Amino acid sequence: MAGDDFNAAYGGSGSEDPRTQRSYGRMSPMAESPQDRAAWLREELQRHERLYYQDAKPEITDREFDRLMAELAAIEDEHPELRTADSPTQRVGGEPTEGFEQVEHQPPMLSLENTYDHDELQEWVERLKRLVPDTGIAFVCELKVDGVSLSLLYEDAVLTQAATRGNGRVGDLVTANARTIRTLPLRLPAPAPARLLVRAETYMRRSAFAALNQQRAAAGQELYANPRNTTAGTVRQLDSRDVARRRLDLACYEWVQPAGGGDGNEERRSHGDCLAALADLGLPVDGSWRRCASLEEVVAFCDEWQEKRGELDFETDGVVVKVDDPELRDRLGATAKAPRWAVAFKFEAEQAETVVRAINAQVGRTGAVTPVAELEPVPVAGTTVKRATLHNYEDLARKDVRVGDAVVIEKGGDIIPKVVSVFEERRGAESQPFAPPTECPVCGETLYQPEEEALLRCVNAACPAVVREAIRHFASRNAMDIEGMGDWLVGELVGGGLVGDPANLYGLTVEQLADLRKTNDARLGEKAAARTIASLQESKERSLSRLIYALGIRFVGDSTAALLARRFGSIEALAAASAEELEEVEDIGSRIAESVRAFFDSERNQDLLRRLEDAGLQFEEEQTEAEAADGPLEGKTFVLTGTLSGMTRNEAAARITALGGKVTGSVSARTDFLVAGEKAGSKLRKAEQLGVEVLDEAGFADLLSGGR
Ligand code: AMP
Ligand code: ZN
Repeated sequence: MAGDDFNAAYGGSGSEDPRTQRSYGRMSPMAESPQDRAAWLREELQRHERLYYQDAKPEITDREFDRLMAELAAIEDEHPELRTADSPTQRVGGEPTEGFEQVEHQPPMLSLENTYDHDELQEWVERLKRLVPDTGIAFVCELKVDGVSLSLLYEDAVLTQAATRGNGRVGDLVTANARTIRTLPLRLPAPAPARLLVRAETYMRRSAFAALNQQRAAAGQELYANPRNTTAGTVRQLDSRDVARRRLDLACYEWVQPAGGGDGNEERRSHGDCLAALADLGLPVDGSWRRCASLEEVVAFCDEWQEKRGELDFETDGVVVKVDDPELRDRLGATAKAPRWAVAFKFEAEQAETVVRAINAQVGRTGAVTPVAELEPVPVAGTTVKRATLHNYEDLARKDVRVGDAVVIEKGGDIIPKVVSVFEERRGAESQPFAPPTECPVCGETLYQPEEEALLRCVNAACPAVVREAIRHFASRNAMDIEGMGDWLVGELVGGGLVGDPANLYGLTVEQLADLRKTNDARLGEKAAARTIASLQESKERSLSRLIYALGIRFVGDSTAALLARRFGSIEALAAASAEELEEVEDIGSRIAESVRAFFDSERNQDLLRRLEDAGLQFEEEQTEAEAADGPLEGKTFVLTGTLSGMTRNEAAARITALGGKVTGSVSARTDFLVAGEKAGSKLRKAEQLGVEVLDEAGFADLLSGGR
């Protein structure tokens, strides 16, 4: 895997234990007042919440997050005056995202208290016994499926609502997305209760996730880090067709019974009976749940699944232990955060001990140099692990990982295992701290550490490692899609000095390729060489958006490339666009805009582009916005918000630009029309304030068909 993918899969810069973090990023001074510490923790927790819930790109483990949260809660307990209304301790999750209709959860979807060992479980059970001393307590244990929670409502046997947890009180209505889950019945068989409220976890099976990543690898796309984040991102897709392609699954874990009784006036059922009844109604319920009469049985269940969970086709991060009897649940009640009648027992991450044999540097496409631990091979969770990421050199120094160290590695849901801790006490006297490289391991160029970044970079654009990655990317499936241009051939071409940048590819001849020798010393041969050269010729016809993607501009993935191609219509126009003009494109922020500018400002890149143009590549889109400029919407600027029922936003934007109009990302005085679909949010308010004309979907359709 390329260095940058490697980083992307991990969220790049390390930020594990911030207390000891050093010279970059977010720092917290060592000696500080509780007030400063609390303020810092709050900000940090909110940032991680955003990364987790909204961006689905967490940088720290749940456990590390829980520790920060526990520390903040402890400070606030000790100094109640420091507790603020917006403290992360006061709420359950992240804010709902814009774009979906919102629904209130009644009752709220609470969080669960966590326990990490048998003692903590025992304390929980003892606390319950103190709260309801007059009776025995029976439990139900279930697997805690690691996905995204949904609240499902059936009315008159029909699924009418599905909502995400959101902040626990208000969530996003994602009914259309939930309907794509194949194991979720859209209608219940008779006799079904008139109203059925179910809480469930949606998740992606390991097998489905593996298949998805295989497809992405084949297409040269960045791999997804783990099933849970992929699920979180999928559930929030605005276009439910994208959701359907992902094959989510579902496990129902709670029938929220109205206070009056299960499905009418009858007695409320016990939780175990509820699970059985849900399964009878055809709802998917994970079958591993078990009634447990005592703490011992609960502990046995937890231990058993801690061992066996690797056998499951889904990821589980623990067990949920619940009180079975509904009357007892009522008596125990809930805190603002979590019910008292349930607790999560968190599994240890799958870890193993091994030894670091070497620490190598890996150079990615953008020149990022990252350390990788080469390990004594060790089995973890069903696979043999030989390498583990060390994220970056700051992180490595903080953990003080050294060659020869005995270490604990962990394999979570992520693709690449990581080093979690070091047995410092087992080190020999000759052990030396690891010195980060000062020179690129591939080209010898002095490495550079950009400010505010934890990475070391090789800034030599001619570095073979950088060139190799750049060419691999250029030739990949979603970029120029050049047949035969695999790792081996790219390595030979770059290593042999035949190719120094993508433009050189177009000067290659069949003879040059045919003579290359493979590892078994066989020539590549005329036939294979001719195929590759033919594919290179063909690739000159690839669309502008593929070309923009192929250039490997930082932060410009294939969908951003498509936006840029559609908006600017040619490399020339794109290269001339100012950062402000770039930011006017919907979904393009300052980070991407600056990166695009920096790319085109580089003389080396300008030279590369000239040579690519000379080679005959498509520098213009067939139907450009400029050509459409004499269309009926010429000179009109549109902003899109909310959900349209008849088309996606991308389709709407394409229709507008095809008629000569322009689509921008934010409402300003220069906006002519705001097209407001269902559940438009802040953009609608802003348009109303500024007196911008607002079109609903019907009005927009009229405009498109020339009706006005
Ligand atoms: P937490 O997010 O750690 O507060 O844990 C609560 C979440 O665990 C719920 O919102 C559900 O998404 C999830 N969960 C997964 N399996 C279960 C289960 N069997 N019972 C209750 N919650 C579950
Ligand atoms: Zn280099």
